[in-house]
Amino acid sequence: MIWSSSRPQLGFKRVAVVLLVAPIVALAPLDPVQAQQIPSSSVNAAELISSLKETTLQSGLTVAATTVRTVETTTNLNLRSSPSSSSKKLAVMPKGTELSVSATHAGWSQVRYGGKTGWASNDYLRTVAKAIRAGELGKTTAELKLRQNANTVSKVLTTVPKAGIFTVKRISGGFAQIIRRGKTGWVQSKYLSTVAQKPGREIYIDQKYTSNRAGLTDIYWTRVSGGDLRESVNGKILIGDIPRNSVVYRDLKLEKTAGSVSGWIFVHTQGMTGWMKTSQMSRKSTATTKPSKYTAKQVLAQTNGKVPEKMLAAIAWDPEKTLIASPALKDLNRLNAAFKKKFGKNIDIDLAYRTRATQDAYWIKLGPYVAARPGTSNHGWGTAIDMPETYDYSFRGKYFKWLKANSKNYNWVHRKILEEESPYAEAWHFDYVGR
Ligand SMILES: [Zn+2]
Repeated sequence: MIWSSSRPQLGFKRVAVVLLVAPIVALAPLDPVQAQQIPSSSVNAAELISSLKETTLQSGLTVAATTVRTVETTTNLNLRSSPSSSSKKLAVMPKGTELSVSATHAGWSQVRYGGKTGWASNDYLRTVAKAIRAGELGKTTAELKLRQNANTVSKVLTTVPKAGIFTVKRISGGFAQIIRRGKTGWVQSKYLSTVAQKPGREIYIDQKYTSNRAGLTDIYWTRVSGGDLRESVNGKILIGDIPRNSVVYRDLKLEKTAGSVSGWIFVHTQGMTGWMKTSQMSRKSTATTKPSKYTAKQVLAQTNGKVPEKMLAAIAWDPEKTLIASPALKDLNRLNAAFKKKFGKNIDIDLAYRTRATQDAYWIKLGPYVAARPGTSNHGWGTAIDMPETYDYSFRGKYFKWLKANSKNYNWVHRKILEEESPYAEAWHFDYVGR
């Protein structure tokens, strides 16, 4: 279902509020274990050690947790005012309460419960693995062994790199079934974090997903060939060699945040953000929207990502006037006419031609599991189109279903390797197969 929406899916959450309404008298307000598990006279050794450490340190310093960790109380547990068992009791947290750890110190975790921030002994907290589910995208948090069966003893088929992204086929007892290099096997699901949304051709800015449009309407096209997108004004080139008539969206809000610079604008283009020279901008596309004399074969004979401008054309009915290989234009126009007849609107195009420089930038930024290896994607010849990652263009969506069934009549295909069952599943990419 992760594909079916452009919105990240929310994981299930145990809500502490529900537990709060339970009468507090029903709980054993012991610190930190339940009455039947420990004689009332005894001192809990673990907690004692913690408090001794606390005494030794005396600093009162807290170490900020590097990542927000979700924990669960394994018993009815006291929330204390400081990381010490002799400090003031603020509340009793029922067994099974889910908490976020904001800091740790000497065997204690700082948590917030019932509107109060306090400390809980780590001995009675356990980390809650964010349970990944079948059909979701998982990202590996460590290098893993892919095993034949859902256990830690069966044959190792291959290794799975850290930060790889995989679709989880099945879940079984703490193991997730994934496919790696054509081999179906199992990894421990606790080492997979849920990827909320399929990362696509677009890029993350400060961990936030963005697109070319990003809600922006201030549109330009590049008026020179070989334009540069830079990290900062006169700074590092993020993407060089941007072709003439590439669409550019100005982001005035970010530009002002960064500090406006005369002669430069802050833009979203090619799925990335950065600075471009205003002298490279035009308010309209001058690219031809007419099919050319060139054949697909001639375009495919060019170096991937370095298709000459004369072999590219703009899609006339696309508001962004996206560039594609000109021989593919006629069939795309026909496909769009049929689509429009069916749905009363044009096909939404997100991306078509992508230069080698753009591919390289993606490869560096996103890595092998998201970006296509530079020089291999049909986008590099302008013979592929991507639709936006919206519900209607997803596997469950009406547009996708129609395109999958009909595009081949117009020499556009959705390839088998991109089908839903594939680890490379992608609904919104179609390839041109005409001549
Ligand atoms: Zn694509």
